[in-house]
Amino acid sequence: MARKFTEKKLVIASHNQGKVREIGELLRPLGIEVVSALDLDLPEPEETGTTFIANAELKAKAASEASGLPSLADDSGLCVDVLWGRPGIYSARWAGPDKDFALAMQKVEQSLDGRPSAAHFTCALSLAWPDGHVETVEGNVHGHLQFPPAGDRGFGYDPIFVPEGEAITFGEMDPVKKHAISHRADAFNQLLARCFDI
Ligand code: IMP
Repeated sequence: MARKFTEKKLVIASHNQGKVREIGELLRPLGIEVVSALDLDLPEPEETGTTFIANAELKAKAASEASGLPSLADDSGLCVDVLWGRPGIYSARWAGPDKDFALAMQKVEQSLDGRPSAAHFTCALSLAWPDGHVETVEGNVHGHLQFPPAGDRGFGYDPIFVPEGEAITFGEMDPVKKHAISHRADAFNQLLARCFDI
């Protein structure tokens, strides 16, 4: 049986402003008080896992241990079919130390070299408690890539990702719409059903 979340406060185990904003917006209707790892100045653990799930769990556990509060971590990325799922868990690292996503998107375009651009975003969400218990889910959104990048909404690889059934990129899309169909929304809905009885 999955453990239910009954507490009033949660740490979002991320230093990424884009993710903190999106997860905060998803949590808002639940009336849970949210603080981020950034607000609490928690150390950022090294992402040594080889899967999205392993990395989400290690980040959630680290934030929960350091803060004494339940913690929610997201590990996510863009997986391109013809690149064997890369950049995948290395999505943030492809942007380099300066977190330059224009460069990362250019690397994806060069690696594709004109081949078909089917891709998906994956998001693992892990909820950890200070006693070490963890609940983890994984969500996806499928689509294809479009160059040059378009739109300045969202973050990361949003300007090149066109979700299935849509004609515009996540970067051009109203955030409300993105939040309804994204990999993070898919994972979040699974987490709500599993740990929040919603
Ligand atoms: P990490 O989970 O912190 O290792 O980093 C995930 C990286 O994947 C982010 O820095 C983004 O580059 C990319 N990513 C994850 N989710 C999204 C999204 O919703 N839109 C665009 N890029 C994303």
